[in-house]
Amino acid sequence: MRAPLLKKVLALALLTSTIGTAVAKVPVTGRRQFNLIPDALMRQLGEASYKSTLADVKISSGNENSQAIKSVGQAIAKAANQKSYDWEFKLIQENDTINAWCMPGGKIAVYTGLLPVVQNEAGLAFVMGHEVGHATAHHGAERLSQQLAVLGGMGALYLYLDNKSEMSNEQKAIVVAAMGAGAQVGVILPFSRLHEKEADVIGMMYMAKAGYPPSESIDVWDRMAKASGGGGTPAFLSTHPSEEKRQENLKDWMPQAKKRYERNKQSRNTQATLWTSSDFGGSSSSTRKNNDSSSGSSGGSGGSGGSSSGGTRR
Ligand SMILES: [Zn+2]
Repeated sequence: MRAPLLKKVLALALLTSTIGTAVAKVPVTGRRQFNLIPDALMRQLGEASYKSTLADVKISSGNENSQAIKSVGQAIAKAANQKSYDWEFKLIQENDTINAWCMPGGKIAVYTGLLPVVQNEAGLAFVMGHEVGHATAHHGAERLSQQLAVLGGMGALYLYLDNKSEMSNEQKAIVVAAMGAGAQVGVILPFSRLHEKEADVIGMMYMAKAGYPPSESIDVWDRMAKASGGGGTPAFLSTHPSEEKRQENLKDWMPQAKKRYERNKQSRNTQATLWTSSDFGGSSSSTRKNNDSSSGSSGGSGGSGGSSSGGTRR
């Protein structure tokens, strides 16, 4: 069954008429790319991986933070202008995880641990723009194209959608990782340097088009580097090139981004600090205003006395 595999892949590629679209252009940078996986299939894989990933995490919803993810996400989605995407924005309650991803088809997740690093709406817009950039530039499809041999060919992708039981755990994890949520399944499938730089530029253009000051992207990388200084390396950073390299690259594109920003800038201050690490420090899942919602199931960490009214703005 091994020998005809390559033939099968090629035949499938032909059948699904991907040859016509196999060489595509990346938005913003205009790089020509080659991948074998049709967009529609990528969106289906994104959807399936999204569901399986969310099943294993705790979603934070109905609060100001989750609302911020949604409103900034919608602004970025509008800037990205992907007609075939069905956008969704989730906040995952993991204070130790500095990460975010966007799966093909527009399924976005941000981890609470990222919020004190982005600090404000503009920073969040950059990181969300970056993740959306990976999706709209078909980086997942490029990565998956490279993994087809390990997966046993294109057929594995349909298997993933239909009946995963015939796939090994590792193969399943590779699909999820190619979609972008590798850290969640313990498989690191790094985006290449090229992909990272591309996502940065696209993300910065999206944020500028959405009305957020693109200069914040440089500051986000400073803060990201700082966050990696203490404790463990943030997942977001572990697979990425050095922040100096990325900042140089961003500065090259900054004049163009600023022009876009000038045309679209919002009237309010989107760089005002919304999140600090003290909001996410302890085990308590505090939200930014902490409206005395008794969130903990076991009230073990209840502070002694005094209603902790959020008098001090952190
Ligand atoms: Zn990235």
